[in-house]
Amino acid sequence: MNDCIFCKIVAGEIPCRKLYEDEDVLAFHDIHPVAPVHFMLIPKAHVASLAECDPSHRDVLGKLLLLAPKLAREQGLGDGFRTVINTGRGGGQEVFHLHVHVIGGGGPRPL
Ligand code: 5GP
Ligand code: ZN
Repeated sequence: MNDCIFCKIVAGEIPCRKLYEDEDVLAFHDIHPVAPVHFMLIPKAHVASLAECDPSHRDVLGKLLLLAPKLAREQGLGDGFRTVINTGRGGGQEVFHLHVHVIGGGGPRPL
């Protein structure tokens, strides 16, 4: 967990382009955006992935999902956006600290 890059971002040890922060969650722009707008929402408390979540994470999971459209709108994505949560190696996850990608502004895209 000490090696977790997103925990280091939460701790301020690695810089990020922050969009939003409160006591439970942090939102920042992805360092390698795949679309004109690409940011992610993370819980501040480390949890590796959606697969490691349990009922104690219910509130923070709800908070992440409710913030997604609010922050997306603020980033100019009032027309819509994609949310992606990669889970586990088989799901293409590369950073093992739960994160919700919010992606948009690149025109329509099939799933
Ligand atoms: P995953 O494949 O785990 O869902 O996505 C990890 C994402 O984290 C990638 O889109 C990658 O660009 C992003 N990322 C990795 N390291 C950093 C970093 O140090 N800062 C920021 N802002 N994003 C990062
Ligand atoms: Zn972490």
